[in-house]
Parts: sequence; structure tokens; C-alpha cells
Amino acid sequence: MWIEWATREVLDGIRRGVGKGLSVPALPEVAERVLRRAEDLRRPHLRPLINATGVIIHTNLGRAPLSQEVMAYVAAVATQYSTLEYDLEGGQRGSRHDHVSRLVEAAIGAEAAMVVNNNAAAVLLALSAMARGREVVVSRGELVEIGGAFRIPEVMALSGAILREVGSTNKTHRRDYEGAIGDQTALLLKVHQSNFRIIGFTESVSTEELVQLGRAKGVPVMEDLGSGVMFPFRLGEIEEPSVAMLVATGTDLVTFSGDKLLGGPQAGIIAGRKEWVDAMKKHPLARAVRVDKMTLAALEMVTRAYLEGNPRSLPLWQMIEETEASLEQRAQAMKNKLAVSLPDSVAISVHRDFSEVGGGSMPGAQIPTVTLGLRADAGSSVAWERALRQAAMPVVCRLHQDQLIFDLRTIFASQESQLIDTIVEGYWSMAAANG
Ligand SMILES: *Cc1c(COP(=O)(O)O)cnc(C)c1O
Repeated sequence: MWIEWATREVLDGIRRGVGKGLSVPALPEVAERVLRRAEDLRRPHLRPLINATGVIIHTNLGRAPLSQEVMAYVAAVATQYSTLEYDLEGGQRGSRHDHVSRLVEAAIGAEAAMVVNNNAAAVLLALSAMARGREVVVSRGELVEIGGAFRIPEVMALSGAILREVGSTNKTHRRDYEGAIGDQTALLLKVHQSNFRIIGFTESVSTEELVQLGRAKGVPVMEDLGSGVMFPFRLGEIEEPSVAMLVATGTDLVTFSGDKLLGGPQAGIIAGRKEWVDAMKKHPLARAVRVDKMTLAALEMVTRAYLEGNPRSLPLWQMIEETEASLEQRAQAMKNKLAVSLPDSVAISVHRDFSEVGGGSMPGAQIPTVTLGLRADAGSSVAWERALRQAAMPVVCRLHQDQLIFDLRTIFASQESQLIDTIVEGYWSMAAANG
């Protein structure tokens, strides 16, 4: 099957080439291309890899990794029938929302919660249910683009809500919001500046102040947190309050991602006033953005880990909290092993550097880390880096001034021997190709 597929693709390619004036390659060359392409097709396309970039919540590399324990539970639920929408007590139909909602409510002190496909869907559903055809007041400093095509003004338009911008890029005052509130106002919206920071002459209105204003005017307040974190978390100068702290300010609704600092599967969590959450559960869009059983199973286990006071069972927090001493030890051990299999012309060094949280979480925050640097002959590092990406277990590292850099923080200890083999094999195949 893969040979036929590959043959068709390669021949189509050659025909297109001929159309552009290229000549037809010799038969052995065609056969070689077909076999290479068939080999590619035979391999799974979505594959695990080794993230040596030091970006912990790397959106392109799958964000938060899940633990074996969580995945064993997902497998148990998904390979058998489950209580997905079944109430064992009454022997009747149940709700898929019940599994995780109660736990999330308990973990963050919210009246009600629900889970949808991702945080983008959470924001869309919330705006559609709360503000369709009416105005939503947002600071101009928070009309953000998160990535892909997710921009607050566009999501707002899609939801049918009318954007009412206030303030300026760097400064928005309480009086700006106040002046914009009228009978058309459905919502005051605050959006976390997830992936950038404005520094200098700035001012914004805190959630507390916005809630006060909303209360006084009878308008609900919603905050899109982006990356919700379950306990107050500080990295250097940058501090994220916990979701529970924001809920405690009295904000009517918060939304956040499941796979950012929560460390769970892709999901969007909506939490706050019961009347609003109930309206969203009944909204037609809820069906379109609903989560599947595997996500719910994973998210339930991750939420339980927090409730049981055991966030360190989650790979995300193990990575964030690994000490420099431990990273240093691992880097030195790898250096010693690599020195045995690489020629003396390769300089192997251990450095102090910084990892990033990533995923649009805590921009600018730096986590001190330890990296391993490899420098071969000038110019060969580009080919070496490419060989690592194309290996059976691909490795994504950083390339800086002719040096390959591997941040130990995002490399699992269980991947180290595979990483060493891949680096060594990659070196020799690169050296062979370079003659
Ligand atoms: C990341 C982010 C989103 C999108 O969340 P997804 O779970 O990736 O859909 C929305 N808003 C903010 C502020 C974010 O940081």
C-alpha cells in the first residue's frame, strides 16, 4: 500500500517537473526515490521526539507532557466502555460535565465549572452565551493575538458580541471602563497579556477594581487567563496569581487552558457563576466544542493530583522544579559518555543558561538551567542539527553560533541514553556525508 502511494507521488512529481522543463530521472533514481518515500510514509507521522530546546510548554512540540500514570488511566477508560454519560447510581443517563467539573470547582473555589476543547473555544463559548448582540468592554492593551488565528477582536466578532475598546495600548484607567458602560454593555472582559509584556509608562485596571466597578454597575466581569496556574507561582520578577485567587476576587467567569501551566491535556476550562456556566452548557456551541473521553479522563487525573497536594507527580512541575545541581550532574554524565564516542575534534561543554516556560505563559520569565554544548568543525553544525531532527527518535535542539545546545531541563532522564545514541549516530552520518 505504501509503495503504491509513494510510486504515485513520485511519478506525479516527475510529471510536474517535466511540465516545467526538467528531464526524466534514470530508472534507478526513480526506484530509490519511491523506496525512500515509502519508508517515510510507513512511519507514523505524529511521533514522539526529544525536546532539548528548554522551552517547557512548547506549543509546536505538544505543550505539557502527561505522566505514564495519567495515560494508563486514559487507556483504561478508552479501551473499555465507561461512565462517560452514565449515572451508575440511578442507572440512567448522566452528564459528561460531572466528572471533572466538581473537582475543578473544589480546586479553585468556583461555584460552577465546565470543560471544552481548548481555551480558544472557552472564550468563544463564553462570549457567545453572555454577550451575543451586545457590547463587551476591553482595554486596548489587551486586544491580543495569541497565535494561529486567535485574536480577541476576531473571536469577539465570531461570537456575535460587539467590541467596545477603551483606553490606549499602554494605559487604561478605571474611568475608561466606567465611561463605556451603558445599557448595551453585556460584559467587562480582561485578557491576560500572555505572550508579551508592555513595560515603561503603563497602567491597567486590576481584576479587583474591575469587579468592584462591575458590581456597582450591575455588569459581569470575565477574565481570560490563558495559562491558569493552581498555586501562586513566581519566577524572578514575574508572578502569576493562582486561579483560586482570581476567582476569590469575585470575578464572574474565568477561562484557562488545560495544557499550559495546569500541565494537563489540551482543554479549556470555564469557571465561575453557576447561572452563566449553566447557560453555556445548554448553548448550541457547547456540543461543537465538547471534549472527548480521553481528555476528560486525563484532566480528571491531573485535577486530582492538585487536590491531593501532589502536583509533583505531573511531568510539567518536575521539569520546572528540577534543581540546577541535578541538571548539572546529568549534563556532566552525558558529557563523559559522549566524549567516549565522539572524536576529540568535537568540543563538549557544560553551560549555565536559561529555560523558558513557553506556550504564551509568563513571557520574560527565566528559569536558570544547565545545557550541554557540542561544537564540531566550523560549518558542520547545521548538517548535524538536521541529522538529529531526521533521526528515528528526532531531537530538536538549539543552534547558536555553530554550537548545538541541549537544555537538560526539557529532556527526560529516561531519554538520555537514546539522546546520546542519536547524537553520536547523527555525528558519524553527518561526517560520512561530508566526506
Ligand atoms: C493560550 C491562550 C489562549 C488560547 O488557549 P488554547 O488552550 O491554546 O486554545 C487564549 N487566551 C489567552 C490569553 C491565552 O494565553
